[in-house]
Amino acid sequence: MLKYLYSQVYTKEIPNELSLGISVLGCPVHCPECHSPHMWNVNCEGEGTDLTVKELENIIEQQKWVSCILFFGGEWDMMHLNKLLKTCKDLEYKTALYSGHELDWFKIKHPNFHLYLDSIKANCKRVTKLSEILSFKLIGHNIMLSHVFSFYCFKSILLNIR
Ligand code: SF4
Repeated sequence: MLKYLYSQVYTKEIPNELSLGISVLGCPVHCPECHSPHMWNVNCEGEGTDLTVKELENIIEQQKWVSCILFFGGEWDMMHLNKLLKTCKDLEYKTALYSGHELDWFKIKHPNFHLYLDSIKANCKRVTKLSEILSFKLIGHNIMLSHVFSFYCFKSILLNIR
C-alpha cells in the first residue's frame, strides 16, 4: 500500500497543465542532494494516509478543476501506482510522474510503466541524455518529446494503445 503525506495544486510543474500533486511517502531512492528527505520514511511509520483508490477519488473531488494528476513518487509499488493512474485516466485527467529513478530502471523493471502515464520526469536531478531517448525509441514506441524540463510525453503512446 502506498501512503501520501499531502496534496497540493501546482501551476508550473507540468507544462501547460494545472496539476494536483500528490506527495507519496517512503521514497527509497535517497538521492544525495534530495530536497525532500522528509519523504524518505520508507516504512511510513506513524506518518501519512493510505493512498487507496477511494482516497485518491476523494482528493481529486476536492480539486476537480485541475487538468492533471501528478504523482511525486510511488513507482516503488508500480502495480498499485498503475491502479491509481488508471483511476485518473478513467476520470479523464492527464497523468504525470516525478521519479528519482533513471528511465532505464523503468524499462527494465516495469516495461509497462507508461500505460496510464502522459508524462514522466525520470531522474529528477539530471537532464536525461539523448541516447536514453533514442534507446527508448528502439523499444518500438512512438514517443513525442517535450524539451521543456526534459519531460517525456507519452500522449502518442496512449493514442497508439487505445
Ligand atoms: S527521488 Fe525525490 S524524494 Fe526521492 S530521494 Fe530523490 S529527490 Fe528525494
